[in-house]
Amino acid sequence: MTAPSQKIDGADEALGGPKKVTVIGAGIAGLVTAYELERLGHQVHVIEGSRDIGGRIHTHRFSGRGQAGPFAELGAMRIPAGHRLTMHYIAELGLQHQVREFRTLFSDDAAYLPTASGYLRVRDAHKTLVEEFAAGLPSRHYQGNTLLFGAWLDASIRAIAPRQFYDGMHDEIGVELLNLVDHIDLAPYRCGSARNRIDLHSFFADHPQVRSFCPPRLERFLDDVLDETSSTIVRLRDGMDALPRQLAARIRGPIATGQEVVGIDVRDDTVVLRIRQGVRSLTRTCDYVVCTIPFTVLRRMQLSGFDQDKLDIVHQTKYWAATKVAFHCREAFWEKDGISGGASFTGGHVRQTYYPPTEGDPEHGAVLLASYAIGPDADALSRLGEAERNAVVTRELSAMHPELRRPGMVLGVAGRDWGARRWSWGAATVRWGQEAALREAERREAARRQKGLFFAGEHCSSKPAWIEGAIESAIDAAHEIEWYEPRANRVFAVTRPGPSRESA
Ligand SMILES: Cc1cc2nc3c(=O)[nH]c(=O)nc-3n(C[C@H](O)[C@H](O)[C@H](O)COP(=O)(O)OP(=O)(O)OC[C@H]3O[C@@H](n4cnc5c(N)ncnc54)[C@H](O)[C@@H]3O)c2cc1C
Repeated sequence: MTAPSQKIDGADEALGGPKKVTVIGAGIAGLVTAYELERLGHQVHVIEGSRDIGGRIHTHRFSGRGQAGPFAELGAMRIPAGHRLTMHYIAELGLQHQVREFRTLFSDDAAYLPTASGYLRVRDAHKTLVEEFAAGLPSRHYQGNTLLFGAWLDASIRAIAPRQFYDGMHDEIGVELLNLVDHIDLAPYRCGSARNRIDLHSFFADHPQVRSFCPPRLERFLDDVLDETSSTIVRLRDGMDALPRQLAARIRGPIATGQEVVGIDVRDDTVVLRIRQGVRSLTRTCDYVVCTIPFTVLRRMQLSGFDQDKLDIVHQTKYWAATKVAFHCREAFWEKDGISGGASFTGGHVRQTYYPPTEGDPEHGAVLLASYAIGPDADALSRLGEAERNAVVTRELSAMHPELRRPGMVLGVAGRDWGARRWSWGAATVRWGQEAALREAERREAARRQKGLFFAGEHCSSKPAWIEGAIESAIDAAHEIEWYEPRANRVFAVTRPGPSRESA
């Protein structure tokens, strides 16, 4: 499964045997970097600021840490099956048996979405959605299926993009795109129990040329729409935190939690870290360091020995916030309402509401991911503060699910405001709407090393805001270190260790 590391002439001596590498951050990027470096024979030492590993993969367990019972994914919750690096590690770590289908937005016909006529079930919404969509078009002379396509594409963008982003884009499902689609037989793509939806994922997979007729902003956003509405997304049955935990269990070097890096000084031959551990301050002088912490955290630190271009990208990389609020409920009341899973688009402050599967003992209740918001929508919820946020989510969601108001229905609430969390100060890098060349230039700059200081993390990848991106960047960083020759200050890059993007 793994790609063999090839040797190049003259590089053997230059590599100079095992290296001692300090990895900052025990999120998925830091753990994969450490795991791959050890496989190549290097020594690793992982430093993590918080008390736990996993970073933005965070499974909250209502019965207590490490306990079985209902849980909520307050960080990453799903993996598109096409994310081959992530799927590779799931298999390698023996987690294949836990892979289950992740039911996404609109996958359940009984879920809801808001229209001008109020909340409608997905199975009943098509007529209203088509009317609302067609009303905004200069001409209505399209086939019914074309309007259905446009209406569901518009509804999907509205459900996935933050409000501001959608407002700027919904006029962009333009005439040119619809004119083209009007000539394609859409009948095979009708889906849903009443066959009144269009399977956008299959349509764009079968007709990739249509993408070039999308206005540029829409085209650049389309991958996220298709990933998030795909029918081939998976999850881990017992919680996504199995991924970082299994990785950590296989790393031989120390993983020190509760050690916050507060300063980085890059020198010619070493990298000096200043670390805070409780009330103590430590200094660690390292040959090589891989920094996987988000730039939002890095830009608040004391940094020296960085060149100006690097400092610029550290300070200018844009991040979006995200908030999640989960309710531990006495019972899966939505099942009595006919909803067996998937998600509703609730709109308002709440944005998206997910119905995770109830696979455990029903005695322990069920979990509702009441609200998942990103970008400016999450900023608005963040400003409210925790108690007010929970109250707003309960109030708004009760309009759709009045069962929430029943006494004793909500047993507990857990949430996370990623934009206000000191270990991330944001949820993920955003490169939506950017042209491919600019995205790649920013990615390269983010990943560019400073002498013996290397970089990884979702922000250094071609798939930002996904686990896949964090893993991709980690494999690249491990590869760079393997082939780095400090005396020549260059990397003899040949192949990447671990699963290559092609072979995984
Ligand atoms: C709400 C939300 C939903 C998401 N949903 C999905 C999804 O469904 N599917 C998907 O694939 N991806 C999803 N993602 C994205 C995915 O979680 C991230 O891309 C990935 O986990 C990032 O990994 P990382 O290692 O780059 O960063 P992180 O996980 O942030 O790891 C960085 C680590 O560095 C530590 N650290 C920070 N500061 C310091 C310091 N000063 N000193 C020492 N250590 C420090 C942090 O505590 C953390 O452990 C989601 C993210 C969020 C926030």
